[in-house]
Amino acid sequence: MEQNLSQEEIFRLMVDAIQDYAIFLLDPKGVIITWNPGAERIKGYKPGEIIGKHFSAFYPPEDIASGKPRKELEWAVQYGYYKEEGWRLRKDGSKFWALVVITALKLPDGELKGFSKVTRDITDKKEFQQLLEARVEERNRQLLEINKELEQFAYTASHDLQEPLRTVSMYADLLLLRAKDKLSIEEKEFLRYAIEGSERAQTLIKSLLEYARIGVQTKEFKKTEMDGVLKKALFNLRLAVQESGTEVSADPLPIIIADSFQMLQLLQNLISNAVKYKNDRPLKIHVSAKERDHEWVFSVRDTGIGIGPEYQEKIFGLFQRVHRDKKYAGTGIGLALCKKIVQRHHGRIWFESEVNKGTVFFFTIPKMTMTAPPAGESLLPS
Ligand code: ADP
Repeated sequence: MEQNLSQEEIFRLMVDAIQDYAIFLLDPKGVIITWNPGAERIKGYKPGEIIGKHFSAFYPPEDIASGKPRKELEWAVQYGYYKEEGWRLRKDGSKFWALVVITALKLPDGELKGFSKVTRDITDKKEFQQLLEARVEERNRQLLEINKELEQFAYTASHDLQEPLRTVSMYADLLLLRAKDKLSIEEKEFLRYAIEGSERAQTLIKSLLEYARIGVQTKEFKKTEMDGVLKKALFNLRLAVQESGTEVSADPLPIIIADSFQMLQLLQNLISNAVKYKNDRPLKIHVSAKERDHEWVFSVRDTGIGIGPEYQEKIFGLFQRVHRDKKYAGTGIGLALCKKIVQRHHGRIWFESEVNKGTVFFFTIPKMTMTAPPAGESLLPS
């Protein structure tokens, strides 16, 4: 065969034998100059019906109106090729999902001779993908709904539990006051235990309420100046910071897209823990943020008592406490709350620590732009 046929004829035979791809040539203006059986099979035109026509015939009207075919050729000229997945039209007007590659054909001196266009019908793949996406979306919606219901339940339950507890401690208080001369020392002690117990339960429920609120009472993400958030957190914690003689320093913090109130809760919790879990040495806290790929990595570093590495997962759970010494009062909800806030912002939270030296809590917040990501499914070279 090689002896009788020219290179061009062999090439032509090869292109004609390909059934699954539409392969054809355009002149520099986009007019179709060749057509293969694959193109006929995919797009429905016979060679005589389409050769000499402009390739924009394959595009839906809205794409033609926006100048898409022309822009694709311009892109191919500039960058060598244009590649995308998108809707295209068959001769009968039906749409198919196409994988398209347009390559600019240039002579070594740069003169444009035309374009090759290779199209594949991947509607099946697209439909399968759409089906899958719809299923995932539906499942996500159901999970969100269940989650919301659970959060609503936790919120209402903790709200409603507060009242009877308040009544218990109030009447126990009253009894202690009114009957104090009739009660033995031991009986007074019992009553004090009851009051302490109900007050502790109230504190726990209050924190639980705050935890449940994160998913229920949410604000939109907006531009949040973390410098300002830190200032506010330090203002709220000023008494504890002053009393403990803590030295707080910070690097300039970025502006991020977040729920600013939750960012305040997050920083405030981490700093208040840093202040609380201190040893006898003077305490230093440093707040910082570093840019890494698509996220900000924030850190709150302290020189406190530290945490053993074995608690890495545990301490972010609800009611999980490592230091149960009386001098470190707490409910074990603070870090669970921090984790929930960070997760709502699609970030991660963890710590690095050395016992008796100090701890650094890290959390990430993805960098997001205020504008929506570019539309369409273009796979253009960047
Ligand atoms: P709480 O402080 O109310 O106990 P948290 O959820 O905020 O609850 O913290 C969980 C546990 O993690 C704490 O009980 C403490 O043992 C440990 N922890 C948190 N922050 C620090 C820190 N900066 N240094 C040492 N231990 C810490």
